Amino acid sequence: MKRVLLENAAILTGAAGPFFTDGALLIEGSKIAWVGDAAKLPESLPRPTERQDLGGRVVIPGLVNTHAHGGLSAQRGCCDDGDLFEWAGALAPHTSHLTVSDNRQSCRLAILEMVRNGITTACDCTRYGAGVFADEAAAIGMRSLSGALANSPEYRRTGRPNWPLARIETEEAMTRHAGDARVRFYLGAHSPYSCTPELVTEVKRAADALGLPFVIHLAENRRETEITMERYGVSPTQWLHDLGALDAGAILAHCVWISERDLDVLAGSGAGVAHNPTSNAKLASGVAPVPAFLERGIPVGLGTDSSLSNNALDLFQEMKLSVLLQRATRLDGFAMNAEQAFAMATSGGARVLGWGADIGTLAPGMEADLVVLDLHHPLGLTQDRVVSDLVYHARPSQVRAVIVAGDPIYENGRFARVDSEALLAEARAHFSLSERNQP
Ligand SMILES: [Zn+2]
Repeated sequence: MKRVLLENAAILTGAAGPFFTDGALLIEGSKIAWVGDAAKLPESLPRPTERQDLGGRVVIPGLVNTHAHGGLSAQRGCCDDGDLFEWAGALAPHTSHLTVSDNRQSCRLAILEMVRNGITTACDCTRYGAGVFADEAAAIGMRSLSGALANSPEYRRTGRPNWPLARIETEEAMTRHAGDARVRFYLGAHSPYSCTPELVTEVKRAADALGLPFVIHLAENRRETEITMERYGVSPTQWLHDLGALDAGAILAHCVWISERDLDVLAGSGAGVAHNPTSNAKLASGVAPVPAFLERGIPVGLGTDSSLSNNALDLFQEMKLSVLLQRATRLDGFAMNAEQAFAMATSGGARVLGWGADIGTLAPGMEADLVVLDLHHPLGLTQDRVVSDLVYHARPSQVRAVIVAGDPIYENGRFARVDSEALLAEARAHFSLSERNQP
């Protein structure tokens, strides 16, 4: 088996440390076999088959994007204004005609961007083509949790019905990727306002039967609460709980409009929250009560959401904004800190996706998903300075290399498995042709 020793590296193993200024990390196959102070490398470890000098660069756990819509990447910037519902109405003409091949081209662009930005795992949502993101992520080497969000034709009139299509496509993709530990799937429903209770119940049952997580957008916008109050007399969170869909297998995107009572329901459920600070601000949705989630032990990860609602697939930006928005809106300089933001982008996100036993920190036995960064501090690197810089100062351009499951998939602008320039050219040709073909 391949055993690669990364040495001469400053290693931050997780948000709370430990941090090794002169660290070493041994990768054995897809997993981390040892990490620590280079001087303490045990004699008893099996000899590495390869050694890599990282020249003092910083190594961190790979970033986990808990909410994305890769299939909308090509439409970036076509629709930048309005709140969630105004925006969704305005973008429909730009997205309702999209084909599965458009989705595929866009997913590629999204994955290339994510990997360049240090993202090693993403949870992606689409409407049709549940396995497309997984196919493209697997080709590039990124870890993924993919699926499609079902919606009810009664509430979403554009497009063909996508259930049970989403389940069928997901099962086909599961067969296609059987045996690839980097590829996982979920079943999902779009939202309380676009799904009937019957549909949500059916999707959740199917997810449980297949042993898959369940994804839904929840309590994103104030109007959503008004809609569920009008239709069912309860909040979106209570509604989901009453349907039996809120449990440890649930991944909830947004959770902005959460009452004190909803907080109790959430905390008791074991469900995780995908927090999307930029998207929530851009679509005038509000600021999610993240400090309250963290206080109650609710798992929270960070998400970029789509290229239409963000528009960058950049978790450095999300980390910084997640802290700043809390402080600015609460007038409390202690509302959140950098360590909490970095935890959400790594171990928190892994926990939300049900992947916490394998990814999110750098420790023996964990998958070797890591990012190598060019990060310097005038006073020298310490744990506090690295965490502070990662959240408040660093940029994706400082990402030098990305390793997933022990596999170097990106280094100094080049992807190991694909020719990114050729893929970009292919996408440009594809979309200019499909623009010409539109009525
Ligand atoms: Zn979404």
